[in-house]
Amino acid sequence: MPGMMETILNLGLNDDTIEGLIAGSKNPRFAYDSYRRFVQMYGDVVFDLGKAPFEEVLTEAKARRKVKRDIDLPADDLKAMVEEFKAIIQSKTDTAFPDDPQRQLWGAIEAVFQSWRTRRAIDYRRVNNIPDDMGTAVNVVAMVYGNMGDDCGTGVAFTRDCRTGERVLNGDVLTNAQGEDVVSGARTPMQVARIKRGKLGKIYRDLDRLGKKLERHFKDVQDIEFTFEHGRLYMLQTRRAQRTGVAAVRIAVELAEEGLITQDEAVQRVPPQDLDQLFHPMVDPRASVTVLAKGLPASPGAATGEVVFDADEAEALKKKGRDVILVRPETSPEDFHGIVAARAVLTARGGMTSHAAVVARGMGKTCVVGAKDLDVEPGLGGGRFRVNGRTVKKGQIITVDGTLGRVILGAAKVVLPKVGKHFAKLMGWADARRRLRVRANADTPADARRAREFGAEGVGLCRTEHMFFEGNRITAMREMIVAPDEAGRRRALAKLLPMQRDDFEGIFEAMAGLPVTIRLLDPPLHEFLPHSHEEIAGLAKAMKLPVAALQRLVESLVEANPMLGHRGCRLGISYPEITEMQARAIFEAAGRVAGRGKKVTVEVMVPLVAHVEEFKRQEEIIRHVAEEVVHAEGRAVPYLVGTMIEVPRAALTADDIAKEAEFFSFGTNDMTQMTFGLSRDDAGRFLPSYIEQGILAEDPFQVLDQEGVGKLVALAVRLGRATRPDLKIGICGEHGGEPSSVKFCHHAGMNYVSCSPFRIAIARLSAAQAALEEAGVVSRTRATV
Ligand code: PEP
Ligand code: MG
Repeated sequence: MPGMMETILNLGLNDDTIEGLIAGSKNPRFAYDSYRRFVQMYGDVVFDLGKAPFEEVLTEAKARRKVKRDIDLPADDLKAMVEEFKAIIQSKTDTAFPDDPQRQLWGAIEAVFQSWRTRRAIDYRRVNNIPDDMGTAVNVVAMVYGNMGDDCGTGVAFTRDCRTGERVLNGDVLTNAQGEDVVSGARTPMQVARIKRGKLGKIYRDLDRLGKKLERHFKDVQDIEFTFEHGRLYMLQTRRAQRTGVAAVRIAVELAEEGLITQDEAVQRVPPQDLDQLFHPMVDPRASVTVLAKGLPASPGAATGEVVFDADEAEALKKKGRDVILVRPETSPEDFHGIVAARAVLTARGGMTSHAAVVARGMGKTCVVGAKDLDVEPGLGGGRFRVNGRTVKKGQIITVDGTLGRVILGAAKVVLPKVGKHFAKLMGWADARRRLRVRANADTPADARRAREFGAEGVGLCRTEHMFFEGNRITAMREMIVAPDEAGRRRALAKLLPMQRDDFEGIFEAMAGLPVTIRLLDPPLHEFLPHSHEEIAGLAKAMKLPVAALQRLVESLVEANPMLGHRGCRLGISYPEITEMQARAIFEAAGRVAGRGKKVTVEVMVPLVAHVEEFKRQEEIIRHVAEEVVHAEGRAVPYLVGTMIEVPRAALTADDIAKEAEFFSFGTNDMTQMTFGLSRDDAGRFLPSYIEQGILAEDPFQVLDQEGVGKLVALAVRLGRATRPDLKIGICGEHGGEPSSVKFCHHAGMNYVSCSPFRIAIARLSAAQAALEEAGVVSRTRATV
């Protein structure tokens, strides 16, 4: 736990032993510097007085002597300071500073043990998943002194560059100093490379040699604390070095190439989640920033721009070459062009599977949702949001940090990680080891092309309703939804058909014969109904209906619980013409691509099935249309008809459903919603406090709840395969790109996971790690905390 636990240096000094130190070192300045450091540290850590009372005295002393650095104070001043520090302890605690080294030692040991329970240590453990009951040891070691003169010093070194992974010794060093001078920032250290040549060259060479030896021993990059005393190097501590995602990849590959670890171990070394950093710019971890609010880190990356509150305005400003951040209370489909135009999206409401989150993630666009401290007022004075006592107006610059979920005031420094040959090599090793296939959730031809670049082996979910977000397509979609009768609906569907067919064609082309799972329409009505007066007026015009009549139609469609409402196959059951149109678009598109001599593998997927009878009826329509298209065009294309398993009842009756369905794909977003009885749209309001209170370890919309939802998944796999042993099974909920959930899918015996294109690498690596774990291959590195 770097910097989290306490330490006490120079222990054992008192008015008698100091004489020995002076005689041995012939350096009273050094001896009294060590003594005052000891009393100061003891007062801070053991007597819990903090640093301030002692720093005040030091600052005054330096001002009196007109010097900047502690080491420039003469011995007499330091000697007087020892007495002054002891007096501070006496007056503030009514206890005399202990002179007896044994008492000093026991006081220090107790304080170090107690520092296991400091706030920062507890927080660090929580963030890094270190158990609280792991406990600690206390080391008591002899001192070596870095503050004995200019041929002495101290520092921190890394055996490789932990930002890039490059194999180069680096770090900080200070001469004539003790360890806390380096970490406290009291003096500015120099780079280790500066001592390579000159008087301290031998120290550099020793450090390099010992660093390499430690790497060979621990088989990993080391973070070393060292001190040198009169030209002799001592190692104080070594631990596994923390690193960025980019560095993790390069280090793992190079350690394997150097023969320190095997390729299996290299694959296991890199935390899959860290690969996320490889594809997105990030806020420079060293930049100091003003955080306005925190929300859910919906889509990683970092983007800076001026705040806008309206999608049209976002688009207009983008056209003028400006960088904008779209800030909304929440998003709806008519904001889509604004999302496209914006560098990042920020919403006050919504969870990780909210519309904005899913769409932004799919586009690889930085996004923070559910920043609940934000009070967004789009209409007021051109738009503004208030947050924790501050007001941010339209045009002001903010930075959205989608990796950590932060909203930052102003332009934070952003750095771009590089993806290179090491990544390609690691992924090659991972691919050779995994059993699970990895597909992409891709809604458009552009998504599909990007997915192939990331290594997708098919499309696992094409959400066909998402094809209507762009341009004026949403109007045709809305016409279909609000149509008062079948004739009106068919008119609207006739407009949608060519749009869908073209998109399907593009996706089939992009996937070049790999399987493409197309899901029939599943539009939760509240996401697609027009809301504002303007939207209703615009739609009324397109439909040649009086505004009031349309208003009534819209009102008649409003549902109390739209996520559990008239969506998925329920729409296709009520209005079979919708399923007919979609099936026609799919098979005509497939026929066209096949007609150009290209391979097409079609999988038609029925959403939100709860009862096998729903599936049967939809399947009948799909197969019937397929035959019609084959008959008309004289060309047959292979296809499967399967279902999403996302309603608990479907999981419980999976054996029945498998009699009809040719494949299953788990929709774990809805399955989580329905198993927990937790609305996807509203969970953002209270779920974070469940996690803060420890009721849930993680957001179940991000990390699959293996004990609950996972049980249903496992049951459905077992029941489905009992009926149909070769049943193809995958997952397409957001969990399909989350490492622990991917591993679960591997163990559950699924054939593939499907996730947004930007998470494909994470899924590939997680799948490989799951296969290695199953084969009993363990990494030899022991993580040091
Ligand atoms: C799901 O429910 O997991 C799913 C993939 O479907 P959607 O998110 O579109 O409801
Ligand atoms: Mg669903």
